[in-house]
Order: sequence, then C-alpha cells, then structure tokens
Amino acid sequence: MQSKPGILLIYTGGTIGMMKDFETGALKAFNFSKLLQKIPELKQLDCNIETISFEQPIDSSNMNPEKWVKIAGIIEDNYDKFDGFVVLHGSDTMSYSASALSFMLENLSKPVVFTGSQLPIGDLRTDAKENLITAIQIASMHQNGKPVIKEVGLYFEYKLYRGNRTTKINAEHFNAFASPNYAPLAESGVHLKFNPELFLPKTTARKLIVHKELSNQVAVVKLFPGIGETVLSSILNSPGLKGIVLETYGAGNATTDEWFINLLKKAIRSGLYVVNVTQCSGGSVSMGHYETSTSMKKIGVISGKDITTEAAITKLMYLLGQNVAPNVFKTIFETPLRGEIE
Ligand code: ASP
Repeated sequence: MQSKPGILLIYTGGTIGMMKDFETGALKAFNFSKLLQKIPELKQLDCNIETISFEQPIDSSNMNPEKWVKIAGIIEDNYDKFDGFVVLHGSDTMSYSASALSFMLENLSKPVVFTGSQLPIGDLRTDAKENLITAIQIASMHQNGKPVIKEVGLYFEYKLYRGNRTTKINAEHFNAFASPNYAPLAESGVHLKFNPELFLPKTTARKLIVHKELSNQVAVVKLFPGIGETVLSSILNSPGLKGIVLETYGAGNATTDEWFINLLKKAIRSGLYVVNVTQCSGGSVSMGHYETSTSMKKIGVISGKDITTEAAITKLMYLLGQNVAPNVFKTIFETPLRGEIE
C-alpha cells in the first residue's frame, strides 16, 4: 500500500447518530454531518475517510430488503475507489443486515464492517467511539498490500465477528452481540488480535457480483408446546409463501403429532421450502438424532445445522431471489456459501 487506505463510512441510522427529541423524550435519528462533528478523533486515524448517508437515517427496526439493496448499491458504486467499508447501523437488526449483505456480495475481497452502539455518540458514557474507531481501523488494516479482512464482519464491544454468525443478545449491555457457533475473527485489547485461521478461505480473484434480488415471501415460525393446527395451517397456506424457517427445539426436534408432520409434508410437496433451525442460541440441528426429528428428515425438511435464524431467513430470501432450482435448493442451502453454516 502506497498511500493511506481509503474508507467509506456508510451511515444508515441507529442509536449511534440519534439524539433525544425534546418534546417526546424518544430517541430519533439526526443529521449525519453532526455525527462527524462529535468525533474529532477520526482525523487522527491513519486513513482517509469519506462518508455517505441515507437521506433519511432510520432506526434499524425499519430496515428492509430495499434498504439492503441500497447499502449493497453504495458498496458496488464505490468498490474500486475504497479499500474498506464501515456500515453504521442500528443494533436491533444489524445481524439480519450483515447476514443479508454477506449473501448479496459474492466474491467480496474487501472488508465490510457493520457497527453501531447502545448509547448515542453524544452521550458521556457512549460506546460509540470505541466501536466506530476500531471498526475503521479493522477495515483499513492491510498486509502485503491486501486487506486483512475480506468478508462482512460485525464489530461491537471489542470483538469482530463474522456478520452472518451473529445475533443480538442484549437490549441494554454494551456487549450486545454474540456469535455462539463461531469464535470472533478478531479481538481488541491492548493489541488488535486477529484469528486468521477463522477467516473465509482465500478465493481466486474474481470480480465482485452484487445480487439484488431478494424474496420476502418467507416467514419465521417458532414452535412452542401447544402450537395449534389451525394457526400453523394458515401460515403454511399463506398466499405466495415460498419458504419458512422453522425454529424447533434442541437439536432440531418437534412434536411427532400426526397433524404436524402431515401439514409439513403437504406444504413441502406443494413446493414450500422448510428450514429447520434450533431455538437454542448455540449448537446444531441434527435431524434423525432423536425420534422427534426423524419424520422431518424423511419428508425433506432442510437442515439449518448451526445457522442463526438471522442468517437462515436472509439466505432463504437470497436463494429464492436467485431462483435456485428445486432439485438443488436443499443441497445449496445446507452448503456454506459465506461461512454461515458448518
Ligand atoms: N433502535 C436502535 C436501532 O436499531 C437501537 C440501536 O441503534 O442500537 O436503530
């Protein structure tokens, strides 16, 4: 690297750039230029930072596939101009967005690091500064002229995770994210310590492909003891539904009641994709391990193995958007595309 690395900071909204509305007391997004005034420290970083903001910054509860396409489009338009990208995003749906972007950006060879904060940047005790500054440092890290990170990451509270392995676990603590089935890619302490053995395997230099077709004809269904036939039937028969993520118990188990298996069997026969993920925060689905998952395996339920619900639903949206052929859909879903599944 001859000159300083160039980083594009993409501001989508979130607490990091919010302030209190004087009338209602509620937190709402404010103008991005004010955000930069609050962090003069950014000038000390050994990289050139440019910024781009959503015209209307949002609370990430308003995130949706159109906005993912917008983020992906900004990265695509600026891909050759910058060495790395930092996406400032509300923490509420950050794991969904990081997962979605990981699928949308094929052959990524530069860092895309999501970050945000639990307290606004202007707050005295804010966690925003550390998160932002270290995320930028990670995104600008190079070795032998190549970026150290070449995937979609999520940096929060001293840890860089693979984005599509994360889940938000706490609405209050600064330590708001976990990656239960995959260790952090890097940890920040006195030194920034990378774990290169956990990075995605090197791919040959192929051109970035940005996939912008995503289907939202999907649903997440969480099982609970007592779930009724009428409710499940009406979900499975929703007009246009193409796939569901079924959150089951433990290692992928569910009731063996006949009505339940029959409903799933009928839905799968009519072309619906059903992905089995566990409600547990860690561990993996293993269909056939218990009798309570054997029938699901037989009727063609897809194993989500150790994938998070966030990665499962966005992978479903992505593969449906790709019009993947039905005879290979299950195999492709069960195969790691961006390191999201074992
Ligand atoms: N509600 C906020 C959001 O997700 C919370 C945050 O930024 O952490 O946009």
